[in-house]
Amino acid sequence: MVLLLLSLPLFAQEWQQQRIDASSNPDEWITKTNQWISQYDEGREFEKLALAYALQSEAYRYSGNETKLIETVKEGLRFAKLADSEVASALLRINQTWYQLQRGQLQQANASVIYAIENAKASGSEDLFIEAEILHAQVMQHAGDIAEALEILEGLNRDAYSAIPKLQVEFHGLIGIIYTDVGAFDIAIEHTLEALEISKEHLGQWDTSVLEYNLARIYHQAGQPNKARQHFETALEISREIEDELGVAYAMFRLGTLELDNENYQAALSNFEQALPQFRSAGAHPMEAETRLSQVEVYLATQQIEVAQQELEAATSLINTLNDDGLKQRLESKWSRYYEETQQFEKALTHYKSSVEKMKAVQENLQDKQVQEVMVRLEIKEQETTNELLKKENQIQQLALQEQQNSYYLLVLAIITVALLVVIISGFLLQQWRARKNFAELALKDDLTQAPNRRAIVQRCKKELEQAKEQNRSLALAVVDFDYFKSINDEFGHDAGDRVLQRFAQVADESLREQDSYGRLGGEEWLLLFLDASKEDAQQLFKRLQEGLNSQPIEGIPENYQITFSMGFTEALPDDSFDELYKRADDVLYDAKKSGRERLVIA
Ligand code: GH3
Ligand code: MG
Ligand code: MG
Repeated sequence: MVLLLLSLPLFAQEWQQQRIDASSNPDEWITKTNQWISQYDEGREFEKLALAYALQSEAYRYSGNETKLIETVKEGLRFAKLADSEVASALLRINQTWYQLQRGQLQQANASVIYAIENAKASGSEDLFIEAEILHAQVMQHAGDIAEALEILEGLNRDAYSAIPKLQVEFHGLIGIIYTDVGAFDIAIEHTLEALEISKEHLGQWDTSVLEYNLARIYHQAGQPNKARQHFETALEISREIEDELGVAYAMFRLGTLELDNENYQAALSNFEQALPQFRSAGAHPMEAETRLSQVEVYLATQQIEVAQQELEAATSLINTLNDDGLKQRLESKWSRYYEETQQFEKALTHYKSSVEKMKAVQENLQDKQVQEVMVRLEIKEQETTNELLKKENQIQQLALQEQQNSYYLLVLAIITVALLVVIISGFLLQQWRARKNFAELALKDDLTQAPNRRAIVQRCKKELEQAKEQNRSLALAVVDFDYFKSINDEFGHDAGDRVLQRFAQVADESLREQDSYGRLGGEEWLLLFLDASKEDAQQLFKRLQEGLNSQPIEGIPENYQITFSMGFTEALPDDSFDELYKRADDVLYDAKKSGRERLVIA
């Protein structure tokens, strides 16, 4: 029962985490929700069904499949209504709004977002409510009503959203866009960077690519084309990586406008031509219009008057269906330029006037006193939140300070605490040091025989070789390989073979002099290292090892069976590298094998 109660709130919020998952792995979630949908459909579990549709719409949105997105929204809304699921309705409405915003369907978007707000409110989820409100502000921003957008953002409960990365990203992202609209680029950059940081840490690639794109746009408008290019390119890269075709088109288009600024008309046009079909097929009408207008710019600059006219006509019929003053203004200005080029000055003038009037309207809207006021209030609030935090931190510090000063007892306690901490920490460090040492030892030991392993003996050889050169001492190397070891394994079993190797390690350990070392190279091959050893020493050692190996019975090996090995020995020359030295020893080992085994050959 307790468990059930404890797990209940978690379950209620499960969809939030699922949404984030769906946005990061859309393809996986499309499959998953499809399974859920058929399962819940069969069981007639409408509430779960509605939620499955909502999550699926999320996945389609982030996968860039807009047609599927809107189909899913429509289907989902039916079941959400049937099941009275406010959460599902709100989620679906949010995605519907986003879809409509892409298409410049501002009135529909506004209607959808108001539904979303109502559903979110009724669902009792404050996160969802704030998300819907931020989206509402976004719709207002698209519609050019900056004052209203800011007013909405100002009204949000900061405490509630500042703990949720997704909402913080949306908030700061949108504030960034709004400040860009009013030309306050520095603040816009600050907010966008903040959103970008949070997104990189907590959200998926899709969100990050959008913010990179937004940041690039601000830099572009702020007259910093290099930074703009850099961030557009990052956005492009991410969009390609996650196969977000629409994101690719956005970035391509903007990179095209940078080319246009530099009068690289060919490059610009190529970018526009790649972006346009994508905008068309996604139904992103405002972006299609922007692209067409930019193409007109290229055509006029390169004297392709006829194509310019065709493109202008296409743009005009498109822009007439949209409720966008900015686009209308740019359209008028392009017509004016077109008439100027074709020497129809009267018409050029008419369009010019109309363009200026629209520009004035847009500007007035942006410089609205109300906008300025809300902006100031918003900044103050932001500042206050920061100040509040700083104040609290100060208070805590001061309190601690006072207490410490006033009470000797506290001081003593502090000293004891520190002393204790030192003891605990040193204990901990010691333990760690031991563990680390242990690991280091393990990494240099061979598991089977406990002898130094290949890494250890090779390291040792290299070091000694270095030193021997410096000190002008003689050094020698021997490679050992057992004879017919395969047959030992075959005849007496692999375990018996293992025991032979273990015995060899033991014998080598006992037989070698203090200054010499040995190690297992791998399999049944060994490397021996001698300092100041003569050929006679080598001969003696060979004999000692051979005898030692057979002096005591080895479990699993018949007592009369002689185990033998071959050995190659060589002394180091003044400028030998380890590899050269080893190769020489190995070569003579080969000679020992060839000439009948069970012997030492000296190079
Ligand atoms: P040669 O005289 O030509 O050296 O004949 P060989 O049979 O010893 O041939 P080689 O050196 O090429 O083969 C080594 C064999 O040693 C192969 C493998 O089965 C065996 N071996 C390698 N590592 C181990 C091990 O850890 N334990 C056991 N029991 N056998 C091993
Ligand atoms: Mg071998
Ligand atoms: Mg062998």
